[in-house]
Amino acid sequence: MTELTSLGVKAIRDGVAGGDFTAREVAESFNAAVAEAAKLNAFIVTTPDHALAAADATDAARAEGKELGAMAGVPIGMKDLFATHGVQTTAASHILEGFKPQYESTVSQNLWEAGAGMLGKLNLDQFAMGSSNETSFFGNVSSPWQKAGTNAPMSPGGSSGGSSSAVAARIAPAATGTDTGGSIRQPAAFTGICGIKPTYGRCSRWGVVAFASSLDQAGPMARSVEDCAIMLGAMAGFDPKDATSLQMDVPDWEGALSADLKGKKVGIPREYRMEGTDQAILDSWEQGKAWLKDAGAEIVDVSLPHTQYALPAYYIIAPAEASSNLARYDGVRYGLRELPDGAGLQDMYAETREAGFGDEVKRRVLIGTYVLSAGFYDAYYNQAQKVRALVARDFERAWAECDLILAPTTPTASFPLGSLNEDPLTMYLNDVFAVPASLAGLPAMSVPAMLNEDGLPLGLQLVGKPFDEQAVLDAGLAIQQRAGFDHAPEKWW
Ligand code: GLN
Repeated sequence: MTELTSLGVKAIRDGVAGGDFTAREVAESFNAAVAEAAKLNAFIVTTPDHALAAADATDAARAEGKELGAMAGVPIGMKDLFATHGVQTTAASHILEGFKPQYESTVSQNLWEAGAGMLGKLNLDQFAMGSSNETSFFGNVSSPWQKAGTNAPMSPGGSSGGSSSAVAARIAPAATGTDTGGSIRQPAAFTGICGIKPTYGRCSRWGVVAFASSLDQAGPMARSVEDCAIMLGAMAGFDPKDATSLQMDVPDWEGALSADLKGKKVGIPREYRMEGTDQAILDSWEQGKAWLKDAGAEIVDVSLPHTQYALPAYYIIAPAEASSNLARYDGVRYGLRELPDGAGLQDMYAETREAGFGDEVKRRVLIGTYVLSAGFYDAYYNQAQKVRALVARDFERAWAECDLILAPTTPTASFPLGSLNEDPLTMYLNDVFAVPASLAGLPAMSVPAMLNEDGLPLGLQLVGKPFDEQAVLDAGLAIQQRAGFDHAPEKWW
């Protein structure tokens, strides 16, 4: 029998439904793989019993001849930004250590209702702030990939780096991610897997620890486009508990998947040819164009003139919203409380936040409160909001000329852990190609394209019109079929 941990979402679901193996066998195999992979540090807590209970429920439902859900029998990893009932939810922070929510996030609830089970809560950059998975209170996550000829631990990307590491290492067939300014796409690109951030509002933010609410979106990370389509279908849907939730039906993305791109125009934004981008990334972009052309698409040049202002605007808007969202962690309501002898209320707030937040989180809170302060609000926050509107308008104008956009996901491949820590600006540059679609609320996906000469994965990004996840997934499938990316990292963990 094929090793069950080599299978993805669709293969597991169909295999369980067809009786090739039981959901319990699948859950047991992945639980064992998770337990063996502690060196990756991908999980903050493991929940083998959750995975087994869901599997048993699926096996029982099948035995009774009941209809099975879209994710029936599939155990997944859950980014530790999603509130899970009775299971510690920390956002990889000290301040939330020990916090066990009394409620379940809508996205995770949707997944359980579709038949999925949970292998554990996945590590991430603290409060989803970061691009390398080095800001977690629970330690760095290692990528399963290593640079050819070396064994230095590499970054799995961030902030959904526990998710990308686990899926690439085959210790989870799929995982949830969240993307505020690239946190699904960049880690997917770094680890040779797929990840899609849907249109803003497709997936409910209810029960997801908030970073920057006008940007945060959940999405699936998995090893194939089909698996992403299936899992996104299970995650998405209108939720009255989230005021920005889209009141739209969830299309049957899986059923409608087609790699035939005849009649589609794919735009190549000229402003994405940026200095500092690796030659190998530029080459993969050329290759991507050729693949999409081969699938029947027409390639056209487009202009997104405000691209260079997107990243600076993001690094004002996201910290501004974060500083407001994180004000709730004060030692009163959740997790950590530092109350030195004789301390008053203000001291408790200050001591708790000092001890409970990591350096990157503090940096964002400081920047955010600064740009929102009365004296600087117009100069920074208002200005950034205007830039955001211009970035969104660039895309609207581009849609007159094309149906979707092809770009690199990141300017470089993964880097060794520790190599960019001292340089936040270079770290922020990781998201230069990801952030514009986030500011505009557009669906965007990373699909693996190839390995570079160091043997590290490179991803290609597809950005679609609002609500047109289908076009993004279809083009992703066309690339997947032509790239034939079936590389797996060599096991060292
Ligand atoms: N890396 C970006 C940041 O640090 C994006 C994070 C995210 O999308 N959650 O803000």
